[in-house]
Amino acid sequence: MSPLLDVRNLRKSFAVSRSFLAPKRYVRAIDLVNLSVERGEAVGLIGESGCGKSTVARCIMGLIRADAGEILLEGKSLSEARRRRNTRAHERLQMVFQDPYSSLNPRMNIEAILTEPYRIQGKLSVREMRERIVRLLEEVSLPSDSLSKYPQHFSGGQRQRISIARALALRPSLIVADEPLSALDVSVQAQIILLMKKLQKVHELGFLLISHDLGVVRSFCTRVAVMYLGRIVEEGTAQQVLDDPRHPYTVALREASLPPDISARDRLNKIQGEIPSALDPPLGCHFHPRCPRAMARCKSEVPGWSVLPDGRRVACHLYPQAAAPSATQSDKG
Ligand code: SF4
Repeated sequence: MSPLLDVRNLRKSFAVSRSFLAPKRYVRAIDLVNLSVERGEAVGLIGESGCGKSTVARCIMGLIRADAGEILLEGKSLSEARRRRNTRAHERLQMVFQDPYSSLNPRMNIEAILTEPYRIQGKLSVREMRERIVRLLEEVSLPSDSLSKYPQHFSGGQRQRISIARALALRPSLIVADEPLSALDVSVQAQIILLMKKLQKVHELGFLLISHDLGVVRSFCTRVAVMYLGRIVEEGTAQQVLDDPRHPYTVALREASLPPDISARDRLNKIQGEIPSALDPPLGCHFHPRCPRAMARCKSEVPGWSVLPDGRRVACHLYPQAAAPSATQSDKG
């Protein structure tokens, strides 16, 4: 059976120009990204700000058009569905945004916000819509008297519950959640994670969770992919990647998320400097200028994929590479 979401060789560049007369240059935001989510599975996509995670999410949602590659939902091409204006594909794919303060229209009350997807769909009577939205509020544990209120009457956590209820309205099979907890207090984050877990189980919902917070990803996701400067560099179960990372970048990310107990080993794994500009990415392995284990070949050769004995995939010259050339990494920087 095909995966719920299957992202194949996705590429996206953005044109930038320093001045009106200067020739355009291109930033490669994502570079041959492959990713999948099974039915009912929560997959985390992690990495520093600017690594391309949100661009992947925006391509999947059709908010921007990818330059190359394919995105399949339930085995069907999303770009083809959009070309044919097949609304069913859109209904099966929903998004929860980072900021619950700006993602809800302050001029619409909760009833209007939650009925909007049904009105656009145009299949339900007023009575049926009302029944559905009352049930949605129950599912996200908000009282039914919330319907007459406006977003500004709710806390950040409650607003995110409303955003999740709206995303659930058309019974999607996949939710793409782009940093959905980063604007919330830690105690509220835990409640929203519990809610998402409950909904995932009840509706066999797939989640693609975009986050820079390893703790959030650890508590919600069963599989994790790590991105660096537009490329996925490690992918495996959450336990493999977060508890025993193998790619030097994932090791450094994990060290950065731990309490600052600087042992000699920790100092060795520390990455130096900022993430380089995607406008002028380093050749070879993009991570080599910051990598504490970089070798001469890392400056010129893009690492292909290695499949380790535990089944995870790592793109790094430290590991013996698969005999076949990698289908998921480009040959150029
Ligand atoms: Fe470090 Fe080289 Fe591996 Fe890149 S390929 S992560 S530079 S060791």
